[in-house]
Amino acid sequence: MHPILLGILVGFLVTQVAVFSTTLYLHRELTHKAVTFNPIINEFFRFAVWVTSGIRPRQWVAVHRKHHAHTDTEEDPHSPLVLGWKKVQLMNVSLYRKAANDEKILAKYARDLPQRTTDRLFYDHAILGLGLLFTGLVFSFGIVTAGIAFAFHAVLYLGLSGSVNSIAHHFGKKSYRTNSGTNVTWLALLTAGEGFHNHHHAAPTSARFSRRWFQADLGWWVIKVLSFLKLADIRHSDVDKLANRTQKPAHLAKI
Ligand SMILES: [Zn+2]
Ligand SMILES: [Zn+2]
Repeated sequence: MHPILLGILVGFLVTQVAVFSTTLYLHRELTHKAVTFNPIINEFFRFAVWVTSGIRPRQWVAVHRKHHAHTDTEEDPHSPLVLGWKKVQLMNVSLYRKAANDEKILAKYARDLPQRTTDRLFYDHAILGLGLLFTGLVFSFGIVTAGIAFAFHAVLYLGLSGSVNSIAHHFGKKSYRTNSGTNVTWLALLTAGEGFHNHHHAAPTSARFSRRWFQADLGWWVIKVLSFLKLADIRHSDVDKLANRTQKPAHLAKI
């Protein structure tokens, strides 16, 4: 295969590893406790997050919980309603970093995730994790394909992360009028289900983001397989039931 094409393909696959680790581990498990995975699966996710994104879980969790607690208000770290969707899309990284580096936000929203010894030694060093990925790609595919794969992955992953915060709060359809999140099918396909953001804001503790069997919530399908193998414990999965139980607007609901 041509090195450029191979680079794009490998980059896309790396992004998908990052996307699945983000939605399953950082989002559905750590942030909302919607599912609990077997510790071995968690270690795999922890490693995958480190090498594909360099994200520190406690920072991601704190920023995202703040987003749920203050959705589309001045306090929201990345609200398209307040900042405009283009700014959230393009500035997502800096908006995230600003909130993630605020110790007060971490102390308030991620008390349950203290820094572990392995974090201090390895996982808190993003450059080390990303460097490990790049080195692995160079040894596997050569410098040209590795460079293209790494760059493509970086642009795609950051673009998709920004899209969930911008497009899925601006365009798309709403099943529930109680929240400002929207459902965007093409985005859900590329983000392992994150595009069903309206459902998610209506029922944050649901491990499932889809409401119908044909809605491509790939993250949920992985959870179902892991649950069948006794490697995942699902807390809730009925979006409608949870959404209807919530009397107050969904964005004010308990995370
Ligand atoms: Zn949201
Ligand atoms: Zn969430």
